[in-house]
Amino acid sequence: MNGRIERSLPVSLWRMAGVLAAAVALGLLIGGLAWWLLAATTGLLVQLLWRLREYGLWLQGGSRRIGIDDSGIWGALYRIPVLRQRRELSRRRRLVQLLRAFRTTAAALPDATVVLDESGAILWFNAAATRLLGLSYPQDLGGHFSNLVRSPRVTRWLEGSEWSESLTDVPAPADDALRLGLRIIPYGRSQRLLVARDMSKLMQLEQMRRDFVANVSHELRTPLTVVHGYLDLIEPDQSPELEPILMELRTQSRRMTQIVEDLLTLSRLEAQDSLPEERIPMQSVLQTLKREADALSMGRHTITLLLRTDANLNGSPKELHSAFSNLVSNAVRYTPAGGRIEIAWELRDGQAVFAVSDTGQGIAPSHLPRITERFYRVSSSRSRDTGGTGLGLSIVKHVLQLHQARLVIDSEVGVGSTFSCVFGAERVSVATASEDAG
Ligand code: ADP
Repeated sequence: MNGRIERSLPVSLWRMAGVLAAAVALGLLIGGLAWWLLAATTGLLVQLLWRLREYGLWLQGGSRRIGIDDSGIWGALYRIPVLRQRRELSRRRRLVQLLRAFRTTAAALPDATVVLDESGAILWFNAAATRLLGLSYPQDLGGHFSNLVRSPRVTRWLEGSEWSESLTDVPAPADDALRLGLRIIPYGRSQRLLVARDMSKLMQLEQMRRDFVANVSHELRTPLTVVHGYLDLIEPDQSPELEPILMELRTQSRRMTQIVEDLLTLSRLEAQDSLPEERIPMQSVLQTLKREADALSMGRHTITLLLRTDANLNGSPKELHSAFSNLVSNAVRYTPAGGRIEIAWELRDGQAVFAVSDTGQGIAPSHLPRITERFYRVSSSRSRDTGGTGLGLSIVKHVLQLHQARLVIDSEVGVGSTFSCVFGAERVSVATASEDAG
């Protein structure tokens, strides 16, 4: 644009110079040069002011463009807004095309996509949202998502702010047989994109896997009990060379029985949404754990119990005892003789923490993300040698999940590990004096 003005300026200057030259020529010919010059400059000034007024009116959109040739500066000035408008128009056209392409793509997505504003009102949704979430267009636009998908679980999740994990196993409002996984992706200032995916097939497969593991474990239990029983009955009096073989057979059959029992425990835990609750007297649970640790260690470790609170826990005593005792047994098994083990029970910012620390071999950070997976072992040989099944931490994780608690692992190779079970304040019950007396 600058170039256009620059190029047209000499044309206009030449024209002005022409008018002034004509005035000078007339003045010289007829006389009264000063008057001719005054008349010429006044004429040019009046023309300039008139054109400015016309230009201003044209810019405001109140008048038509005056007939003017394009080569001078006025031509260039008239062209500038026209060019700008054209550019703006093509930019808008491109944007509209882009928006249309986005909507077509979003509409074709197999996942339900809903745009929510900060209050949870629906701003937009695609065709799959009609199929999976039962939203209807345009009636549901502006409605509150939680009012339309009447599920207390979904409402609680939407009202919270913890959306890093998706909400799974949500029955589809449009079809009860469908199971959805919901995800929220916050974007912009305070808008949220809700994506609902049909997880029915995946959940069916997961259920099949669970049933298969549970059935196989169950089927293996009886033959194993029989084998185990007969092995215990055999006395190799006549052939003492069979003694080590029998010992090995007994150890392996015991290990298999333990694996089957652990798999059955896991299947049972996975099949449950919640556990029956009662108040767990933590003092006596911790004393029992200490006795179990002493028995397992057989004097090879220094084991201390740190009871820093007399608070109790609400939960399932059997499952929690099994989880705690898994952690204690791991500490004993993965700490060389002479090491120290600490079992602690304390309150931290209102939360209750059960922690087992050891001065054992520790776990490298690269193993930590997978350590609670079934059969995941840092060293298979060490786990087997110490009678591990590779399922202990999986059981711990599941039991804690059923108590809305989390497992925190701090570990350093060669220094030791601390496994902490952190329970929310709602599970803590602080014993009152009258209760203690009772
Ligand atoms: P396992 O029956 O093999 O002990 P777990 O699920 O209890 O199975 O533990 C998984 C793996 O985590 C173990 O094989 C071991 O490598 C590691 N591990 C668990 N507890 C400890 C600990 N206290 N110190 C070092 N490593 C541990």
